[in-house]
Amino acid sequence: MTTDIEPVEKFRTRARNWLRANMPPAPSVAPPSDTEVAWDRARQLQRMLHDGGFAGICFPAEYGGLGLTADHQDAFTDESIPYEMPLLLNVPTLAICAASLLDLGTEEQKRTHLPAVLRGDEILVQFLSEPRGGSDLAGLTSRADRDGDRWILNGSKIWSSGAYAADYALCLARTDWSVPKHHGLTLFLVPVHAEGVTVRRIKQVTGSTEFCQEFFDDVELPADAVVGRVGAGWEAASRLLVHERAALGGTSPYTSGARPHLGGEADQLLRLAKATGQWDNSRVREDIGEARAMNVVRDQLISHVTKAITTGALPPAAGAIPRLFSAENAWLQTDTAVRIAGPMAATHTRGDGADTETVGLDYLFRAAWSLAGGSTEMARNVISERVLGMPRESAADRDVPFSEVPHGR
Ligand SMILES: Cc1cc2nc3c(=O)[nH]c(=O)nc-3n(C[C@H](O)[C@H](O)[C@H](O)COP(=O)(O)OP(=O)(O)OC[C@H]3O[C@@H](n4cnc5c(N)ncnc54)[C@H](O)[C@@H]3O)c2cc1C
Repeated sequence: MTTDIEPVEKFRTRARNWLRANMPPAPSVAPPSDTEVAWDRARQLQRMLHDGGFAGICFPAEYGGLGLTADHQDAFTDESIPYEMPLLLNVPTLAICAASLLDLGTEEQKRTHLPAVLRGDEILVQFLSEPRGGSDLAGLTSRADRDGDRWILNGSKIWSSGAYAADYALCLARTDWSVPKHHGLTLFLVPVHAEGVTVRRIKQVTGSTEFCQEFFDDVELPADAVVGRVGAGWEAASRLLVHERAALGGTSPYTSGARPHLGGEADQLLRLAKATGQWDNSRVREDIGEARAMNVVRDQLISHVTKAITTGALPPAAGAIPRLFSAENAWLQTDTAVRIAGPMAATHTRGDGADTETVGLDYLFRAAWSLAGGSTEMARNVISERVLGMPRESAADRDVPFSEVPHGR
């Protein structure tokens, strides 16, 4: 069988020329991501990629993508780094939600939503975590009850990134309380602005209002809002979590442009050392060397694990390895930046050429890297149980009908 896929290097050259001619340079300081303006800009940039023929590199052509390989995506990502890209849409819209719809959606869901996402017309988010705790996802208590040929959704979700700006959410709800917790769940595609959905924004310690909490009061969903099968929500969520770990670990091929980096790069540390007069301090140089080495290891690990998952040498759950490493590295990078910046990390001097205004904020936000996409403790559990084959953690509620599990007391 012959294949007419464009060679990666030819694609790279074409992408480089197109990016140079069409995309604006990347802003020197990332703008706040919690404004409507930022989301509108991301939609616009995604539309430019789409119209230029560079959206959805690894999404199949029948759903609006290019049907190319992860190597094409990597080449495009490399070339796109100097340019302003719709990075806000990477996580969760493209790399998690659209990737999950591709795996799990009906033909109609895929034909309706994937081209719209790739055009920048639809933003998708995740409604998974609940106020009672996000790690025990299978123990969630938001409910969808069947009413004729529709579903009625009630409950609450929390920590939903960017929900205020979104169009649809992948929402996991309990549809059967008579079976053990993993068996009574269903995944739904919920219009964020449907009647009965209230979205409230949450203010973080950094001042950002990117997170939301949602309340569902008798939200009506049609039968075709189900993603996958009724009662098979855990299998669907597990697939979604594989994409989430890949996205957070930097191994997802379903992005537009540079992958999100967890933690600053060593170049920022160099600028900080210069701006604070510590260029010749051997301790600072050692710290920067360590930080740079960790970034090299991170990139190598991402590349190695991605290839191993693609060839089947490692299971998809191995995405938890770079996810864990990336979080540990983000802490190291932000802590090193604060050590070098010293008091400047708190004073946020604008325009000092050393990005000190981001150092303090990155430090305050660093705990998020250990929680987003499932906590690092849960990543360790995944690695031990599903990669290394160690015994499962014991759980008193695993084989008990969920209605008999004490909760909320
Ligand atoms: C930046 C960011 C973006 C996010 N975006 C979204 C989003 O878009 N949609 C969404 O639904 N959620 C989102 N979340 C929520 C995230 O998924 C949860 O924070 C995460 O799953 C942990 O849940 P929790 O915060 O409720 O902590 P809990 O589940 O209450 O856990 C508290 C602590 O106990 C530990 N722990 C719990 N159970 C175990 C166990 N069995 N073994 C070992 N340790 C355990 C945890 O590791 C954690 O340290 C986001 C979070 C962050 C930080």
